[in-house]
Amino acid sequence: MSDVTADRDGTRCVRAGLPEAVPGEPFLPGPVFAAPYHLDPWAGPAGAPNGYGRSDNPTRRLLEAAIGELEGGDCRVLSSGQAAITGLLMSVLRPGDTVVLPADGYFSVRAFATETLAGIGVRVLFVPTVGPYPDLSGVRLVFVETPANPGLDVVDVRALAARARAAGALLAVDNTTATPLGQRPLELGADLVVASGTKALTGHSDLLLGYVASRSVEVLAAVTGWRDHTGAIPGAFDAWLAHRSLATLDLRLARQTENASALVRMLAGQPRVTGLRWPGRPEDPAYPVAVAQMRRMPGVLSFDLGDADRVARFVDAARLVAAATSFGGLHTTADRRAQWGDDTSPGFVRLSCGVEDTNDLVADVTAALRAAG
Ligand SMILES: *Cc1c(COP(=O)(O)O)cnc(C)c1O
Repeated sequence: MSDVTADRDGTRCVRAGLPEAVPGEPFLPGPVFAAPYHLDPWAGPAGAPNGYGRSDNPTRRLLEAAIGELEGGDCRVLSSGQAAITGLLMSVLRPGDTVVLPADGYFSVRAFATETLAGIGVRVLFVPTVGPYPDLSGVRLVFVETPANPGLDVVDVRALAARARAAGALLAVDNTTATPLGQRPLELGADLVVASGTKALTGHSDLLLGYVASRSVEVLAAVTGWRDHTGAIPGAFDAWLAHRSLATLDLRLARQTENASALVRMLAGQPRVTGLRWPGRPEDPAYPVAVAQMRRMPGVLSFDLGDADRVARFVDAARLVAAATSFGGLHTTADRRAQWGDDTSPGFVRLSCGVEDTNDLVADVTAALRAAG
């Protein structure tokens, strides 16, 4: 057998989590649909790996092996990114603990913190992704999102991991925007990775998924217990679709990055476009840290068109840009975040590049901007 750790991204994605080849069997075994499984009448649940679907599913285990290989840790998948984040927070935090959360990150995490965590006596500190971070002594968990959604700011994970470790705090990184090919937080010193697999990781805009990855046996045991007790599991078919989609992650991300890079170059010269953000752009404030810790740049960028009407005219005029929330899918999409109550200006657009041909996409976006006036 060849040395797996030496394989490059494309090879790792195609092979991640696949079982040993068996003649006559598929490369990726089909989804196993089961609530209860047959039990051994004498040994009971101890007699076989699968007893009941909430805790045991072989399709899910293969997906966990695949994501775990890419992240460099062990993995548990949950029913959505939000389920993974709340599962992590509830597994780690106890009343009286202090948690640091991003002030500019995914909005449902902030809502969960103010509505639920604060209510059970957890002290919540909101800190902008770029900092400054407070003194971490007495903090149980530091949770960051980098690049942050939707503002695309970046935090130095190595430096923050060192500070967290010195203070006895755990560091968790939301790796949704980067994906494990874009950034490997566990190697940068984070204790935990959490992410939505709904976005670029699976990339087909057809399922919701979340995961937690770590090298800590205790934290993973706590998350596994939480998942079992709350029932926040992905279905077998979603897990199988996700695994199938992972094989093309390297290809999809490569085109998305290429499209983002080309669009950013064009957008930078447009008089009506302000506040252009993309961590891969040398002029971007996030660039120095991003290039030092990221393995590739995301296909997501953001900019401001001034007001809601111009955004609507732009998306309406574009043939290849669909109005949709979420990001990371095969199709290019634009989302005016203020319509969801995000703390962004009315003309702020998050643009997620799909895998369309780069020249077609640049031509279409250029024409749509002109049409929007
Ligand atoms: C979408 C998203 C989530 C939530 O994921 P769901 O799969 O929609 O539940 C969490 N964090 C970030 C950064 C996201 O973009």
